[in-house]
Amino acid sequence: MIKVSTYRNQKLALFGLGGSGLATAKALIAGDCDVVCFDDNPAGVEKARAQGINTQDLRDCDFSEFAALVLAPGVPLTHPKPHWVVELAKSAGVPIIGDIELFARERQAIAPDAPFIAITGTNGKSTTAALIAHMLGHAGRDVQLGGNIGRAVLSLDALKSDRFYVVEVSSYQIDLAPNLNAGVGILLNLSPDHLDRHGTMERYSNIKKQLVAKAETAIVGVDDARCKAIADELADAGHNVLPISQNQPLKAGIYAQDSRLTDAETGDVIASIEGVGSLRGTHNAQNAVAAVAACRAVGLSNAEIQAGLKSFPGLVHRMEQVGHLGKVLFVNDSKATNAEAAAPALASFKHIYWIAGGLAKEGGIELLNPWFSRIAKAYLIGEAAPAFSATLGDSVPFEISGELDAAIEHASKDAGNSSFEDPVVLLSPACASFDQFPNFEQRGFAFKNSANALAGFKPIEGSS
Ligand code: ADP
Repeated sequence: MIKVSTYRNQKLALFGLGGSGLATAKALIAGDCDVVCFDDNPAGVEKARAQGINTQDLRDCDFSEFAALVLAPGVPLTHPKPHWVVELAKSAGVPIIGDIELFARERQAIAPDAPFIAITGTNGKSTTAALIAHMLGHAGRDVQLGGNIGRAVLSLDALKSDRFYVVEVSSYQIDLAPNLNAGVGILLNLSPDHLDRHGTMERYSNIKKQLVAKAETAIVGVDDARCKAIADELADAGHNVLPISQNQPLKAGIYAQDSRLTDAETGDVIASIEGVGSLRGTHNAQNAVAAVAACRAVGLSNAEIQAGLKSFPGLVHRMEQVGHLGKVLFVNDSKATNAEAAAPALASFKHIYWIAGGLAKEGGIELLNPWFSRIAKAYLIGEAAPAFSATLGDSVPFEISGELDAAIEHASKDAGNSSFEDPVVLLSPACASFDQFPNFEQRGFAFKNSANALAGFKPIEGSS
């Protein structure tokens, strides 16, 4: 745990007692802060109280006594309207911050030399963060990975100067971190997302920009116009900006072309992702280029980078290679809970036995039409099956499998009997899971368990 000492002997309010809220409360208490915690959910309050945390309805407290309100990132700060606790803090002039802010301040105070890489963007944050942490760990560095992925940032191991912190940061978390001064900041890409929470695209982009604007080195994807404008603006203002591209040669920074990750200034190939199954697809080229730029910025050699890329197992439930049955590769992309998220997987394989369906999102799978020709057959499950079958119509052979188990059994047989050299059984449902599973993780594990139970199935090392 990272003790938060910057509020020693001061009084703080904390609202939101989910996983990261509890970790934050404990980190503050360990640093001798007098923290009063609350949540709208009585179960959360009870759980905290049972662990010895001081809880009280914050409506009954005098906010003028608090040095700050520590807010969980899921609690509305501005949109659709500020939460009541935000209103209370604002009217008392109390600053509102989050756990990433506490981490940034603590690092500044205790171990300013500890390398701190912060990652944001609309898509690819977790993959990039995990890849960076993997490359650093593979090269023998002492590395901690957390924030919006895995462990809450304040539950990471204690700060010390030679420990690397790789922190995924959501827009909600940036909004609560006015002093987010990462050594290396990454902004991957920007497309409309979470606008219900941020109001407008302009406001959402401005929040994301803060992460790179305050970093010593700003790594910015320049393949979309919004990020390109941010990169140009920061460079013009004299910031140290490293542009990155997943598909176009650049004059400065690092770009990917035909799997080769190239230093734009020297023309040297730093490393290659050719044949790295966990980094298939142009979207992953962007993640890889960003991760390589960050690892270089904190001192990894090209050889260390190449070794790390090659051994990256990928993230669980995101185009995760599970194993083979004969020539058939099984891929778990359960995280693809809408059509947009399923597109990269469909674009990454040629002969697909596609398991899709669940609880449909608005728009269905219309936008996947450009990749229909890659689908050898679709196996439809869950509530969305009838609607999806109507969209596939005559253009893609399909069956309504109903349950996931039946889909896997049929798909693996058909793929094995096909004449293709490299068929793939792909779970990329383009749907939420809640009609048949508690969440997308359970759906992914069910897929993996069923695949593993097939006679002759060979799991891929690193897939758990
Ligand atoms: P995040 O943490 O930002 O949600 P993930 O790394 O978990 O992103 O990837 C989630 C999904 O987003 C992937 O399964 C893939 O479909 C898509 N994706 C990943 N990286 C990118 C990228 N760089 N650009 C666009 N889409 C991406």
